Amino acid sequence: ALILGLESSCDETAAALVRDDRTILAHKLAGQEAEHAPYGGVVPEIAARAHVEILGPLVEAALAEAGATLADVDAIAATAGPGLIGGVMVGLVTGKALALATGKPLVAVNHLEGHALSPRLADPELEFPYLLLLVSGGHCQLLLVRGVGDYRRLATTIDDAAGEAFDKTAKLLGLGFPGGPAVERAATKGDPKAVPLPRPLVGSAEPHFSFAGLKSAVLRARDAGTHAPEDIAASFQQAVVDCLIDRTKRALAQAEGVTALVVAGGVAANQSVRHALEGLAGDAGMRFVAPPLWLCTDNAAMIGWAGAERFSAGLTDPLDIAARARWPLDETAEKVRGAGV
Ligand code: ATP
Ligand code: MG
Ligand code: FE
Repeated sequence: ALILGLESSCDETAAALVRDDRTILAHKLAGQEAEHAPYGGVVPEIAARAHVEILGPLVEAALAEAGATLADVDAIAATAGPGLIGGVMVGLVTGKALALATGKPLVAVNHLEGHALSPRLADPELEFPYLLLLVSGGHCQLLLVRGVGDYRRLATTIDDAAGEAFDKTAKLLGLGFPGGPAVERAATKGDPKAVPLPRPLVGSAEPHFSFAGLKSAVLRARDAGTHAPEDIAASFQQAVVDCLIDRTKRALAQAEGVTALVVAGGVAANQSVRHALEGLAGDAGMRFVAPPLWLCTDNAAMIGWAGAERFSAGLTDPLDIAARARWPLDETAEKVRGAGV
């Protein structure tokens, strides 16, 4: 089957044509860094307007690159949440309109399921169940991925997401936007042992995460004026890595029968994070799977692929399905001390 995937939940607009045999026939992506950079973060109204302007042309460009027409497409997959609601609506309404016009089925994809299944697009050998560390701009979770649509959340953050911590640290250090890659770049020139920073929740019994205290410590280190920004960046990154590793190790001990340790989401593009997790998997005698960098940050190939997995399982959606700003992958998971989902 050939799936058209649409993504517009944050500040990346993207369209892809993906086959269920894992061939990516086309992928077109437009970032909005320049539009949001003056504000130091994503402005929802600006993002929604940009999605409206660019998504249609990206769909046409993807079809042209694949040498295909809408008649060749078997289903249309669009992100239906979670994310900035204005942007999500642009992609979902576009998907609905294309489905209505062509008579093809719609697959409403949870953006987090896109991230969660992206490692299976990259690696045909990755089987269920696997332990997933989902680290992105809005989420930091450990999930037992048991099958398509079958996720159990083992842990989440009680305050900030990992990517959010990178973005805030970049802002505090004046490294620019988007923050993750900027912090990683600065960190290569710094000493990860230079600045003593906390490792929140490390050693605690439940594998949850916390990054707010780390951000405050970065602020104090900056205001002390005695450390180079590169040293703070490197020390911050090391603290995040230490937290991710400790918490993931704890979850591995609790997760039974998993075939692999898997990482996905924008922060999975970070080399220190990838290397540390690879080491952890090696110590546990387990396979490690991380998607290529471009599949970690937001893209439409992962939405097309999640759409393909759902379509193969017979999961399509009615055209009146609603966009959702919040949409946990594991709807049964309890709230953790006021944490987001
Ligand atoms: P969510 O997926 O939770 O809805 P999102 O879609 O905005 O949020 P992603 O696109 O998956 O998030 O990831 C973006 C986040 O990843 C940003 O916070 C960004 O700073 C971070 N990030 C991207 N590249 C890197 C990197 N090399 N190192 C660390 N963080 C990174
Ligand atoms: Mg983005
Ligand atoms: Fe994302």
